[in-house]
Amino acid sequence: MASPQLTLAQVQQLSGAVAEYIASQRGFFLRTSLPLTLEQREAMEGFFVPDVLDGSRLVVLQSSRVQNPDFYPQLWRLGFRNLPDFRTMAAITFGDVVVSHQPFTHGLLFHELVHVEQYRQLGIPQFSNLYVRGFLTGRGYEGIPLEGNAYSLGASFEAIPRQRFSVADEVSEWVRNGRF
Ligand SMILES: [Zn+2]
Repeated sequence: MASPQLTLAQVQQLSGAVAEYIASQRGFFLRTSLPLTLEQREAMEGFFVPDVLDGSRLVVLQSSRVQNPDFYPQLWRLGFRNLPDFRTMAAITFGDVVVSHQPFTHGLLFHELVHVEQYRQLGIPQFSNLYVRGFLTGRGYEGIPLEGNAYSLGASFEAIPRQRFSVADEVSEWVRNGRF
């Protein structure tokens, strides 16, 4: 389903609101987050730079869910019907903080750490801008290039979990080639 057409000013405003949402969620969940366990670190080692392995923080929610941004009702009024529902996603990454609704499998953790690497290279404002633009031009969540990148690298990992490759190099190649 196509998204409603927005003006440049509306896209910029929305990107700013998404960036604020990400930063505030990051701050909120950081307080109860934990580093990767030794076992998780060993499984991810060789794929991710030490910054990501040492700096990422994880939260597994037991009896609560991540809440959708409070600007969603405004977007519904503009005609959006296909907004990603964060409450039903397996996990969401806010900068360097990954919040999951279920115990981490290595596959899930890998996907989310690709997002951490994307944030590391882009920063929260640019990540938000590209996420919003990808959503608007890609006809929804499935068409967001930042997600496509994470899903494709995750598929390589899950196919052969011991065959190391550099996620940082893959992400920076996408950045260089303007694929996001
Ligand atoms: Zn994702």
